[in-house]
Amino acid sequence: MKYIPKGMGWIDVITGCMFSGKSEELIRRLRRVVIAKKELVVFKPEIDDRYDEAYVVSHSAQKIEAINIRNSNEIARYIKDTTEVVGIDEAQFFDRGIVDVVGELASRGICVIIAGLDQDYKGKPFGPMPELTAIADDVLKTQAICMRCGNPATKTQRIVKNDAQILVGANELYEARCRNCFEAPEA
Ligand code: ZN
Repeated sequence: MKYIPKGMGWIDVITGCMFSGKSEELIRRLRRVVIAKKELVVFKPEIDDRYDEAYVVSHSAQKIEAINIRNSNEIARYIKDTTEVVGIDEAQFFDRGIVDVVGELASRGICVIIAGLDQDYKGKPFGPMPELTAIADDVLKTQAICMRCGNPATKTQRIVKNDAQILVGANELYEARCRNCFEAPEA
């Protein structure tokens, strides 16, 4: 999003692999919203408790205040008539209901800015991200640098053995990898 639309809703999605700067970009956009004195509310899933409970925090330690919620249907209770912008981080961890919630917010004239992983550690679409990307007005795909060869990286390699789709952590558990260096775990 190049500017904040007036008099209409909007959905921005920022998506890519780990270490690609999604949260930095989300925070950058949300800070502009704060500077513009727009009414903002930011959400993140409670599962993501790294760094700081009540903030969206990037790997480079930028942060912005956020509300931890467990389920997409909790969002409605924090939305006021005056809410203009909604931020959502780590959207891949939310239930599918988030797609309808986001659509509803946009139809009420709210600008929704979403960040999330596009693929899981197997290289498969992650949670509600495919649908959120489809209904978005604007999508930014962010790339990292392959930690093995230096090519542009679009995959998240899990470097520990664990079959859970959700395994929260960063540096010690994952690496950004390019398509050549990514090794999909055996099914
Ligand atoms: Zn590579």
